[in-house]
Amino acid sequence: MNGSETQTPGRDFIRDIVAEDLASGKHKSIVTRFPPEPNGYLHLGHAKSICLNFGIAQEFGGRCHLRFDDTNPAKEEQEFIDAIQRDVRWLGFDWGGHLYHASDYFDQLYAWAEHLIREGKAYVDDQNAEEMRANRGTLTEPGKNSPFRERSVAENLDLFARMKAGEFAPGARVLRAKIDMTSGNINLRDPALYRIIDAPHPRTGTKWRIYPSYDFAHGQSDALEHITHSICTLEFEDHRPLYDWFIENLPVPARPRQYEFARLNLTHTVLSKRTLTQLVREKIVEGWDDPRMPTLAGIRRRGVPAEALRDFVSRIGVAKANSLVDYGMLEFSIRETLNRDAERRMAVIDPLKIVIENWPEGHFEEVEAVNHPAMPERGARKLRFGRELYIERDDFMEDPPKKFFRLGPGREVRMRFGYFVTCREIVRDAGGKVMELRCTYDPQSRGGNPPDGRKVKGTIHWVNAHDGVDAQVRLYDHLFASPAPGSATGNVMDDLNPASLTVMNAKLEPSLLEFPAGQSVQFERLGYFCPDLSSTRDRPVFIRTVGLRDTWAKEAAKS
Ligand code: ATP
Ligand code: MG
Repeated sequence: MNGSETQTPGRDFIRDIVAEDLASGKHKSIVTRFPPEPNGYLHLGHAKSICLNFGIAQEFGGRCHLRFDDTNPAKEEQEFIDAIQRDVRWLGFDWGGHLYHASDYFDQLYAWAEHLIREGKAYVDDQNAEEMRANRGTLTEPGKNSPFRERSVAENLDLFARMKAGEFAPGARVLRAKIDMTSGNINLRDPALYRIIDAPHPRTGTKWRIYPSYDFAHGQSDALEHITHSICTLEFEDHRPLYDWFIENLPVPARPRQYEFARLNLTHTVLSKRTLTQLVREKIVEGWDDPRMPTLAGIRRRGVPAEALRDFVSRIGVAKANSLVDYGMLEFSIRETLNRDAERRMAVIDPLKIVIENWPEGHFEEVEAVNHPAMPERGARKLRFGRELYIERDDFMEDPPKKFFRLGPGREVRMRFGYFVTCREIVRDAGGKVMELRCTYDPQSRGGNPPDGRKVKGTIHWVNAHDGVDAQVRLYDHLFASPAPGSATGNVMDDLNPASLTVMNAKLEPSLLEFPAGQSVQFERLGYFCPDLSSTRDRPVFIRTVGLRDTWAKEAAKS
């Protein structure tokens, strides 16, 4: 999982570098940053980067900036800027007063672009995108110099100023660094510094008609903020020589260094804003916060606590080699956290009615149900046991194998917090479907301990038909059926899971109505759930965060 490296817990190669730089006195304190582009919502991959950057700052007594890489107004929106701040805070991190935008530096970046022109290290190119692509060369062939490469400084300054003034159409001209069209590293073949984009910017309005490229803005923003360790994902390794070239060729106030780590890849999951945007636009999901989305907004709505995510990120570690993490690891962290924190309640998501024939009509008995088995201080609530109950359809089998310790014809089972019940008769509809079970109970088995010392192996949950509350329950599965979406056809959309959402009409014990949206609860024996944002008292909607591991499902899978 961590590539070929071994690491001690809480330590990784980046933290080692940081510790060394502090020990050697290279830096007195460290400054990191998390630099999202506001062109979508944050996803689980970003959570890894946030935990790394903010985590290092915390652990080493430094600070971490939140900086919006807002250099492409054609794709960026205020909605995303707001959502990103909400999500970073939710994850548990705080940038203090250190909120920045690449757009804060547009004047400085423009001045530095002019500086490069004056030094003969940048030029305005009139080639169109196609010509530029054709002349860039390939991995094996060098590129060709642009016919506009040798323009005079004066002409370049004039053309650049006119680009800024909005005299030219988008794509008509580009400011490029003059580095080396024959370099083995394509990033050094005269990369673009400024392009013309005709779109208003969320922060600078219509002031600018030209915008800096990612490469030109990023490192210089780092330098302006005195970032010491600029941590990014491996795809940027080949950009590092360019990052360093700018730092060496500009009068920047600090010399940050870039370090690369492996991005998070998760099975059954696509962590690409382009794909996530497509899912939202094409309404394949309800929105960025659809509980099936791997966005922080989605998994928060799903009921995943921020702590579970931080735990997951610390377990997967930070490595220099790309790898694929099993989604089950995330579920493990979620279960660990919720098992500890979530209260228990009973709900039946696929109800089958049972009628206890020897229980008097209209009679109810209160039983006490603990809210959390490991935390008595969380108290208990009263449930009403009665003649008509709902049980889970799965908890009955007509012809059960030996190891099925639940209900079957003639079989006895313990009703959680209640009595022993034996199935006597099956009632069917015209089509033969099981509609109801007629049962009897043992009046001496209350609390599960009849005086004859008889034991039953199974305990099942139930909801009283008299006061049970109708609710919609949404069961989610992976959005992508394949563990590696797109690996077969090259198109991730071919692997969409048509069964990623199943809607059930469930019965809840009444106390579940008191849970606010997003608050996790364990439905006993079923999993962790929370009321959805759309839930109301009149129309309760619960969504499944994650299932429990089911011992019978495992048994069944074996045979
Ligand atoms: P996408 O490929 O989804 O568009 P991005 O890298 O373009 O993602 P940014 O907003 O630029 O998105 O990312 C902000 C920071 O988060 C960057 O430093 C980037 O390296 C990091 N990041 C993005 N995706 C991942 C990932 N899957 N794992 C770890 N870090 C990531
Ligand atoms: Mg990016």
